[in-house]
Amino acid sequence: MDWSKASLLAQAMGRIDEATRAVTPPIHITTTFIRDPDNQYRSGNIYGRADNETVREAEAVLAMLEGAAAAMILGSGMSAATAVFLSLKPGDHVVAPTVMYWALRSWLKTDAAELGLDVDFVDTTDLGAISAAMRPGRTTLVWIETPSNPMWSVTDIAGAANIAHDGGALLAVDSTVATPLLTQPLALGADIVMHSATKYLNGHSDVIAGALCAARDDDFWARIKRRRATLGQILGPFEAYMLLRGMRTLDVRVRAQCASAMAVARHFTSDPRVAAVLYPGLPDHPGHGVAAAQMQGGFGGMLSIRVKAGEEAAIRTAANVRLWKRATSLGGVESLIEHRASIEGPGTPCPSDLLRLSVGLEAPADLIADLDAALGANG
Ligand code: PLP
Repeated sequence: MDWSKASLLAQAMGRIDEATRAVTPPIHITTTFIRDPDNQYRSGNIYGRADNETVREAEAVLAMLEGAAAAMILGSGMSAATAVFLSLKPGDHVVAPTVMYWALRSWLKTDAAELGLDVDFVDTTDLGAISAAMRPGRTTLVWIETPSNPMWSVTDIAGAANIAHDGGALLAVDSTVATPLLTQPLALGADIVMHSATKYLNGHSDVIAGALCAARDDDFWARIKRRRATLGQILGPFEAYMLLRGMRTLDVRVRAQCASAMAVARHFTSDPRVAAVLYPGLPDHPGHGVAAAQMQGGFGGMLSIRVKAGEEAAIRTAANVRLWKRATSLGGVESLIEHRASIEGPGTPCPSDLLRLSVGLEAPADLIADLDAALGANG
């Protein structure tokens, strides 16, 4: 019998600790392992910087969710993303989106350039722009994020995969916002999937973690794994346990967050104080058609609103909420509101009147009432 992902998730794949018959796994905190008397390491364990059993358990759940040949858990989303770029070679050309998680964009513009990577930023929602940016023989990676921060722009994963592969490159997808439940990038042709596991996968705003999943356990994957071991990017066992615990409720959390985000989005589309609601689930969102084709079960828990009265009114609205928490990050059980341009700083493509909303598990009617009152307090 093939159990559903929801069932496998609820039981973290049903593993029982054979030594004690415990239904929750032990946390393996050891940093080192006994070598066999004949000098071998038959247990498969040598040292905790390279691997850890609690981390492996979280990886098994993630690989199952993404339909991946292998998964890797790292110390943050940024360490997961940078491990991929650090596994390229100096001189390699990369195509990345103009609208993407800002800290990674900034790393690509500075550190990655210093390391010899040549990165072009294009509007990846336009497949023609990706094609035009490809440099045959030089482009080794196309990086996309979908839906992408903070406009929730949607990139056609299958289309991007075809272009990348035709040009001899790999396609990597930051699928943090879609979660493995709403989009399956590997099935759509992607080679690598990345998650900030800090967000929906853990889901409780109490662990910083990252994840990678691979379509193939090949040489490039081995290179990334080597980077994780040598640069010490593995997640600690306590955090891996917390992540494993958080993932058990991923299915119910994400379903509720999608439904609430849709309710909030729909409510504010007709609000005269709101210039635009950006949510891929709304038919007028530019990425709705592609999102409807490549996302199943919902459009995610993230949306943004643009406040008609401008930047100061947007900042005042965020100051006036009582239930939403005024904080960065996303994907937790508590709803967060953020004036995004302030955090992204100068040069951001984020409009200055934009408030980013991460919808949690509070009653949607309360979230709507609180935001409505905060918009009203603008005078
Ligand atoms: N990718 C996306 C879409 C994100 O939202 C974030 C964090 O906000 C990251 C990557 C980076 O993840 P982390 O903060 O876990 O390093």
